[in-house]
Amino acid sequence: MNRNAAAATALSVRCCIVGGGPAGMMLGLLLARAGVDTFVLEKHGDFLRDFRGDTIHPSTLELMHELSLLDEFLKRPHNELQQIEGQIGTQRVVIGDFSHLPTHCKFIALMPQWEFLDFLAERAQRYPSFRLEMDCEVDDLIIADGRVAGVVAVSPRGRLDIRAGLVIGADGRHSTVRQKAGLESTDLGAPIDVLWLRVPKHAGDAAQTLGRVDSGRILVMLDRGDYWQCAFVIRKGGYDEVRRRGLPALRDEIARLAGLDRERLETVRDWSDIKLLTVTVDRLRRWHRPGLLCIGDAAHAMSPIGGVGINLAIQDAVAAANILAPGLRQGGAIASAALDQVQRRRELPTRIIQRLQLLIQDRVISRVLRSTGPLTLPLALRLLRRWPVLRRLPARLVGLGFRPEHVETPELVAAPIGRADG
Ligand SMILES: Cc1cc2nc3c(=O)[nH]c(=O)nc-3n(C[C@H](O)[C@H](O)[C@H](O)COP(=O)(O)OP(=O)(O)OC[C@H]3O[C@@H](n4cnc5c(N)ncnc54)[C@H](O)[C@@H]3O)c2cc1C
Repeated sequence: MNRNAAAATALSVRCCIVGGGPAGMMLGLLLARAGVDTFVLEKHGDFLRDFRGDTIHPSTLELMHELSLLDEFLKRPHNELQQIEGQIGTQRVVIGDFSHLPTHCKFIALMPQWEFLDFLAERAQRYPSFRLEMDCEVDDLIIADGRVAGVVAVSPRGRLDIRAGLVIGADGRHSTVRQKAGLESTDLGAPIDVLWLRVPKHAGDAAQTLGRVDSGRILVMLDRGDYWQCAFVIRKGGYDEVRRRGLPALRDEIARLAGLDRERLETVRDWSDIKLLTVTVDRLRRWHRPGLLCIGDAAHAMSPIGGVGINLAIQDAVAAANILAPGLRQGGAIASAALDQVQRRRELPTRIIQRLQLLIQDRVISRVLRSTGPLTLPLALRLLRRWPVLRRLPARLVGLGFRPEHVETPELVAAPIGRADG
């Protein structure tokens, strides 16, 4: 509880969403669009952090279509990826082909996440019932009569006591909300971490390949227009060893794996140009308690494998809006049964994807990182090479996932006229 209540500004809102990531911003947009008084609190002052994933999958693009936002959305800078491709040793393999998906967009849009979040924020702000408070960090919950009744936050305008009919924890894998709520999680284990760095892109660079795998090494390269955003996978806790080997050795390894000349890596001048991103895979046993629901990574931290975490977080947001918007509009307490309904709807798809991520982590990635000899193509990849029709299956798993959600919430408040299209 806030011990400094006298000095705090008191606010009240129907739904307070903690965290302006993909889950929080999408839920904020949907609730505000459905006429629910909604407050999103984001601890950073902008969305400009480059370590957010960039993959907007066909399932999310389909939601944009359902919201009549797709055309505007695709005007934002992005690249379109029709196939998932990998390079194993010297062999290239197409792993997934999106061209047969039953969606309007048969591709992954690679869009820097700040563009995506900025788009959602700009759209949501057209609804009078939406408020976004940036630079606002939640550090405690308000509990009244055993229910979560709001949050305590620090913002440039001082401490805020925000009372809410429902609090949503969408504050990611290091969620303060879930910790303060005492929700227990199961750590599912992640044997990898990621080094995140940029390499300049040149006009003559080969067509985009996402994953490059060689014995002991895995590199993922995301095309961000004028540079490659590189994710170099290391074994968990292996960063000290990488540093001991030295920066020149790391530059050599990445240049070789990426097939780039060594000079290109000189732009990585020192260790401050490299970010260590720790990977966690976990899941809450209960995603809720009275007055509070966690969604996205706050409920289930995802591994980067498959680049599905953003899209799963968005699916949670859509399910939560579909189930909770009517009760939120009516007023009064949201029944725990409704919160549980969100968990029951989203838990199975989450479990399936996490199980697949763990399988790939343990059976493929850990083995590759331990390997020292030349790599051979696993049977599954040989089959994908031989029978291209099989590439539809991974494309469906990654592009649509399980139990894709659809927008069922109505647009109850018309966007005010006079705010220009973005
Ligand atoms: C190395 C790595 C690479 C990844 N790459 C991809 C990828 O390419 N594609 C993909 O789909 N997934 C990727 N993922 C997974 C993906 O990042 C997450 O699954 C996804 O971001 C979850 O979205 P979210 O909205 O639940 O949480 P987040 O994106 O983590 O957003 C949480 C938000 O809450 C804010 N916040 C945190 N604490 C507070 C607080 N106390 N008060 C207020 N605000 C707070 C944060 O600033 C943040 O904006 C990757 C994960 C890792 C670890």
